[in-house]
Amino acid sequence: MPELPEAETIRRGLEAPLGGRTILRIYVRFPDLLAAPPPAFRSALEGRHVHTVGRRGKNVVLGFSDSGGQGPDLRLVVNLGMSGRLVLRERDDASEPPSHPGVEFELDGGGRLIYHDIRRFGRLRVLEEPAFREWSDGLGPEPLSRRFTAKRLMAGLSRSGSPVRSWLLDQRRIAGVGNIYANEALFGARVHPRTAANRLSEVEVRQLHRALRRVLRAAIQAQGTTFQDYRTALGSRGSYASRLRVYGREGRPCSRRCGAGVERLVFGNRSAFLCPRCQSEPDLRE
Ligand SMILES: [Zn+2]
Repeated sequence: MPELPEAETIRRGLEAPLGGRTILRIYVRFPDLLAAPPPAFRSALEGRHVHTVGRRGKNVVLGFSDSGGQGPDLRLVVNLGMSGRLVLRERDDASEPPSHPGVEFELDGGGRLIYHDIRRFGRLRVLEEPAFREWSDGLGPEPLSRRFTAKRLMAGLSRSGSPVRSWLLDQRRIAGVGNIYANEALFGARVHPRTAANRLSEVEVRQLHRALRRVLRAAIQAQGTTFQDYRTALGSRGSYASRLRVYGREGRPCSRRCGAGVERLVFGNRSAFLCPRCQSEPDLRE
C-alpha cells in the first residue's frame, strides 16, 4: 500500500503538468470515496485552479486558490488507502485508461486527473485552510525534513513503551512510514522490530534515523515499491521491490550473508520481517 515514497513519486509526477490547471468538471462514480456528499465536493472544487501539488505523510495534497489568491485557501487531501492511484491523462493519451476510475477531474486543455482505486479504502477530503492546518498539525514530523533530527526521534521514542515497529507506523508520531519501510529501516539499523521504543540505545536511535531516511530516499529514487496496484502518476511501476532486504522475504537468506534466513512474525495485527541474527531479540540483551 502506498507510503511516503509512493505518495511523493505521485506528487512529483503531477506537479509540473497539473500546476496552474483549472478543474472544469468533476465526475463521481463512487461517492463512498468522498468524505462529503458529491454535490458539495463538486461545488467546492469546480472552477478552481491548482495552486500547489504537495504531500503530507502518505497523502497527496492539492492546494487550490481563487484566481487572485496569494496562497491556497482550500486543500484536497487524497488518502490513497490500500490501492489508490492518481493518474493524469492528457487528451492525446493513447494508453489503456484506468480500469477502476472512482473520481474524475476534467481539466482545462482537455486532460483528466483520475482517482483510481480497486479496493476503495482511499478517501478524498476537501478542507479549508484552518481545518487543513489542524489536520496537518495532528500528524508527526516529515521524516525527510530538516527538522526531523536524530535528537527529535530520540525524544519521541523515549516517551513510548510500544514496540518500535508499531511506533513507526503511528502517523501521529511520524508521518508517512508504513509497514514496508518501517521493516526495512529497522533491518538497516539492526534493531529488532519488537524492541520497546524507549529501550533503544542512543547509538541505535542514530542508526535508525539514518536508515529510515536512507531507505525513504532510495525508494523515492526508485519511484516507490510496486507489488500489485501502485503506479506513478504516469502509470508506470516503481522498482524498489527488487531492493527490499526483509519485507516479504520470509525464508530467504539474509542479504548481509550472516547465515540466517529472514523471519516473519506477527504482532499489532501486522507482519514484521527481520533477520534474527542481525536484529537480536530485545529480551536476550538485557
Ligand atoms: Zn542477518
